[in-house]
Amino acid sequence: MEIADGWQQEEIGRSRGGLPLKVYRPVGADTIDGLLIAGIHGEEPETLLLARRLLERIDGTDTNWAILPCANPDGVLHGVRQNSAGVDLNRNFPSASWQPDHSFTYPPGAPVRKRQHRTNRSSPGDAPGSEPETQALIALIEQLEPGLILDLHSPLALIAPTTAADPLIVQRLAAAADLPVLPDIGSRTPGALRDWCSDRGVAAITYELEHAPLPALCERHLPGLAMLLTTV
Ligand SMILES: [Zn+2]
Repeated sequence: MEIADGWQQEEIGRSRGGLPLKVYRPVGADTIDGLLIAGIHGEEPETLLLARRLLERIDGTDTNWAILPCANPDGVLHGVRQNSAGVDLNRNFPSASWQPDHSFTYPPGAPVRKRQHRTNRSSPGDAPGSEPETQALIALIEQLEPGLILDLHSPLALIAPTTAADPLIVQRLAAAADLPVLPDIGSRTPGALRDWCSDRGVAAITYELEHAPLPALCERHLPGLAMLLTTV
């Protein structure tokens, strides 16, 4: 399917590997209510598919949200979590929690995080905010000043809002997809976008899909996400 009418595409920067970072905004929108981000982890490509389906199904005139369907094109292209410099972008944000230690792809804690998958260690970058993708995303957020950021991930099957997120919105999203709401994802995430948002009092929701076939993910998650994007 084609992307629906009423969206304009804008390149907000380039990845470390030189690939374009594209955001879709409703044509003529003066203000943006929210920003949906997918694919900050390249090994979670199902998040891109959901973002794409939303762009296909929602007309730009029916929403005040912007969508960044692929925050880490290098990682998606290579099928890895990191960008082409080996940096986990969701550990590269200049939050108070940023730390220089490398991280595992799957930190210990949740049942789906098995030891055999804990390979492929990630750098948090040479310094907080060192990566062009991180810089472009921060600049976008500072420009749009979205009232809510929704960051799609996989595979923990939960919703983790920052304290600034509207509990009613969180509850609606959770009910639509029958997902648990937890105050965090169960392990520390130094340098995560979410931590950076928390530091600034920005409302953000980490939305973790489960491991499931793509049609099942669409069926379970698209109704609630579409409702979020089209409810004024
Ligand atoms: Zn992730």
